[in-house]
Amino acid sequence: MIIPVRCFSCGKPIGHLWEEFKKRNAEGENPGKVLDELGLERYCCRSVFLGQEDLAELVGKFKKA
Ligand SMILES: [Zn+2]
Repeated sequence: MIIPVRCFSCGKPIGHLWEEFKKRNAEGENPGKVLDELGLERYCCRSVFLGQEDLAELVGKFKKA
């Protein structure tokens, strides 16, 4: 779904980093390296990004009529 504005576990603001992470990931960069460079060192924040998938459009298809 949509990336949370802050990390669920530690509260670090991470929402603004999602677009760049997605873009660089699509360009074939190593996700771990991108996370390092974005300053996400704690594994709680990294897991938010790595477990994330853009499903907003997919879910939109199943809206109640
Ligand atoms: Zn965190």
